[in-house]
Amino acid sequence: MTSDATKPQSTAKPPRRISILGATGSIGESTLDLIGRNSESYDVVALTGGKNVKRLAEMAIEHRAEIAVIAEPDCYDDLKAALTGTGIETAAGEGALLDAASRPADWVMAAIVGAAGLKPTLRAVRQGTSTALANKECLVSAGRIFMAEVARCGTTLLPVDSEHSAALQAMTGTKPEHIERVCLTASGGPFRTWSHEQMANVAPEQALKHPNWSMGAKVTIDSATLMNKGLELLEAHHLFALPPEKLSAVVHPQSIVHCLVYMSDGSVMAQLSCPDMRTPIAYSLAWPERMHVPNKRLDLAEIGALTFEAPDFERFPALRLAMDVLAAGGSAGTVLNAANEVAVAAFLEKRLGFLGIVGLVEATLVACDDLIVQTPQDADDILEIDREARARARNWLPRFA
Ligand code: NDP
Repeated sequence: MTSDATKPQSTAKPPRRISILGATGSIGESTLDLIGRNSESYDVVALTGGKNVKRLAEMAIEHRAEIAVIAEPDCYDDLKAALTGTGIETAAGEGALLDAASRPADWVMAAIVGAAGLKPTLRAVRQGTSTALANKECLVSAGRIFMAEVARCGTTLLPVDSEHSAALQAMTGTKPEHIERVCLTASGGPFRTWSHEQMANVAPEQALKHPNWSMGAKVTIDSATLMNKGLELLEAHHLFALPPEKLSAVVHPQSIVHCLVYMSDGSVMAQLSCPDMRTPIAYSLAWPERMHVPNKRLDLAEIGALTFEAPDFERFPALRLAMDVLAAGGSAGTVLNAANEVAVAAFLEKRLGFLGIVGLVEATLVACDDLIVQTPQDADDILEIDREARARARNWLPRFA
């Protein structure tokens, strides 16, 4: 007979319960790639999509999700039909998205694109679920309120943007007072060397070809205008509680060095890796440990040279605009984000030229003086400013088309 005390004890950790908001997107796919390679370590709770029922259903089946939620209510019947007999719950609409975000889980990936991700991400934060934040628009639009909720709920917030993941890795172990400056790198996008005149005729198909990263459409266009780097400076401001004067950006076409953190003793800490979003996603998934990622290893001799250049604010005024918004504070970030979402969507639909993106954003900011000075109290106030700024941007659109 063996007593309980002498039975070998299992040392295996129970699987972690994980949810992915925006599972059908580029970040969602990369996250599920990592989960699928270590499936015994994870139980998939909720997977959500916007409209892509087919992919959502495939993912839910492959990863044996508890529930699949589609944001677009009109897609519900298709989702239900695709998952009938699988035992996977289905739901649709905004309320269902919020419920999915608050299902008990250990870790949630917030990867819905745009301000549409704000409320579901806040739900996960309020639930106290460790939140991996890909959705930078949450912080650009609602940084003050969002970070206050993170602090109030004691939630662990882990950045997924490669630059912010790099900053976190480079800063870890250093007291905030010893961080002099954080410099985010930017690839410069596909038009880094193009003249203003050349960029005037850029088609969406050209702007969607990022030289180094494979990403969703919105962030790819933001990278081409360099607005993405501006949004990331706002993101870093809120995430790391750094004032504007401690934040900067440098163009680094190879996308190998993701961030530089300047310390008070003259040291500069950097994080390097081949451009593959699975690396920062894995950091957020395994944190505070690390996990194996089977991606390309960095070979500096093969690359030969890493180059850096100052951003050109003349050819890429979106970055300067975002830096002005960062300095202005108030609700300027909410207006910037809303106008940029309208402008990028219009560009992708060929209703606005490439240079019109920043033109429309700038005009909307000027037209929203009264909104910028407002002090929203909660996410509903933010979304009200967001709605009004979008309406004004749409009004301005014909003048830039
Ligand atoms: P994608 O466009 O590839 O995916 C977006 C996801 O959001 C999809 O699942 C989409 O669903 C869903 N979605 C879209 N609209 C709505 C809505 N109204 N309600 C609910 N869900 C919606 O984007 P990415 O994965 O590229 O980016 C996601 C976020 O991560 C963005 O904020 C981006 O800036 C950030 N990020 C992305 C990086 C990348 O490498 N891709 C790098 C760093 C940050 P569906 O497709 O089913 O319609």
